[in-house]
Amino acid sequence: MKLDVNVLRYLSKDDFRVLTAVEMGMRNHEIVPSELVDRIAGLKHGGTYKVLKNLLKYKLLHHDRSKYDGFRLTYLGYDFLAIKTLVNRGVFTGVGRQIGVGKESDIFEVAQEDGTILAMKLHRLGRTSFRAVKSKRDYLRHRSSFSWLYLSRLAALKEFAFMKALEEHDFPVPKAIDCNRHCVIMSLVQGYPMVQVKQLQNPETIFEKIIGIVVRLAEHGLIHCDFNEFNIMIDDEEKITMIDFPQMVSVSHQNAQMYAISHLWLMPLYFDRDIECIFKFFRKRFNISFQEDRDDETEVEVDENSRPSFYDITKDANALDRELEASGFTKKEQNDLDKFIEGGLEKSTDSDEDEESDDEEQTFVSNEEGSLNEMESLQLQEEEQKRSDEVEAEVELDDNEK
Ligand code: ADP
Ligand code: MG
Repeated sequence: MKLDVNVLRYLSKDDFRVLTAVEMGMRNHEIVPSELVDRIAGLKHGGTYKVLKNLLKYKLLHHDRSKYDGFRLTYLGYDFLAIKTLVNRGVFTGVGRQIGVGKESDIFEVAQEDGTILAMKLHRLGRTSFRAVKSKRDYLRHRSSFSWLYLSRLAALKEFAFMKALEEHDFPVPKAIDCNRHCVIMSLVQGYPMVQVKQLQNPETIFEKIIGIVVRLAEHGLIHCDFNEFNIMIDDEEKITMIDFPQMVSVSHQNAQMYAISHLWLMPLYFDRDIECIFKFFRKRFNISFQEDRDDETEVEVDENSRPSFYDITKDANALDRELEASGFTKKEQNDLDKFIEGGLEKSTDSDEDEESDDEEQTFVSNEEGSLNEMESLQLQEEEQKRSDEVEAEVELDDNEK
């Protein structure tokens, strides 16, 4: 998706007020009725309608007339709300070039006042896994207000919380700077994804270092679940940085619900898969051989029997729950998100399901109101309210500045 940040310059405080009004309305409407947007925004003399037109022009909103006249945010609109909030907070001052397109994210450079460049990751859950979501419709029926906005925000919060917790335990991860909505700001990693590296000076050392990370994660009760050459960065000094954690799972799920228990059974598989990915990549790319293919004596050897076992490692696992919750990522949120990306974790190949395009039009899950457990609905609304208050306060701040 194109993120034309120049548009930011053309957006007035009224534009942001209306955009925020739509976001607030989306707490309990999939499509927010125009009158409600107008009421929340509270602009004089029908000003809201003029602004809505402008926001549509820049594709920050989607207009839907199918049931009634209403609007919802597009990802771009959501991007701008997050960017505006972070700029107002002084986290960065400008957005630069795009440096990565992940499966479910876009990564940009952002610049701070003093010229420091950081990385901004915008989570886009649902870009590729609409099918996985469809297969989770039963689940959705009970959690109907799980929109893509909410899920992408959870993914960002999770990534931010893990990054902080992992850093505290000296794992090689980017430095977590800030997080708002679906957006995580972190330090820019110098170097390249491992997948682009054709040669290493010390492949065995790097290999052992990487396996060491997977094992040490497990010692903390964690499995990356997507630990491969795409999510390991390496620089010219052959320093390793691990990125991309929204799929990470924690053994501490075991005291949650049935789902989590079944998930727990899968953990050794996820662990083995992470390990296997690394073995495979190093075998192929750097010609490291393990005992199982010992016939070529010229190759470097690593003892295949020394493969770490998940059960041995996690016996005394010391999960990072406390650290994670400190960043606001609680077990409830972890459960919400993990239930959701479960399909993705298993990298399902259920291609018999009918294909759905993943364009803007389908990025929101239908909202069957009333089926949400009241308590959950309240919690959700409170959270969303807090965030909207923050933007409101900022919009007001802008007002006062002028
Ligand atoms: P996804 O979850 O969509 O796979 P990633 O977090 O793996 O997203 O990021 C996608 C790509 O963006 C990475 O392969 C890497 O090239 C780049 N990238 C991500 N984070 C950073 C960072 N902090 N510094 C530099 N490049 C990054
Ligand atoms: Mg990735």
